[in-house]
Amino acid sequence: MRFFKESEFECKCGCGLNNMSEVLKKKLDEARKIANIPFVINSACRCEEHNKNVGGELKSSHLKGLAVDIKSLTNIDNFLIVSALMNVGFKRILIYKRFIHVDMDYEKVNPILKIMR
Ligand SMILES: [Zn+2]
Repeated sequence: MRFFKESEFECKCGCGLNNMSEVLKKKLDEARKIANIPFVINSACRCEEHNKNVGGELKSSHLKGLAVDIKSLTNIDNFLIVSALMNVGFKRILIYKRFIHVDMDYEKVNPILKIMR
């Protein structure tokens, strides 16, 4: 990885969990290079307890190390981030108000590009 430190993918509760997919990290790094703007990781790996505390889904892809939420506050950033993610082959992208969720949990419906409000 050129653009991320391993610690950025750890569970934010401080438990140290990091089961992030190697493939996801590689693709995210490629997308970051293409977008050419900072990717701030709001959430990556989550342990069960942290997932509960942040109101995550029971079967959240974050539990499996297959998802990241990237901070995005503007329409320009939404465009740059989403287009870069699609460019490197991500097939599951959810646009929330303040972040973009991307995952590689292909047991879930794909392709999907959805605006969540
Ligand atoms: Zn944790």
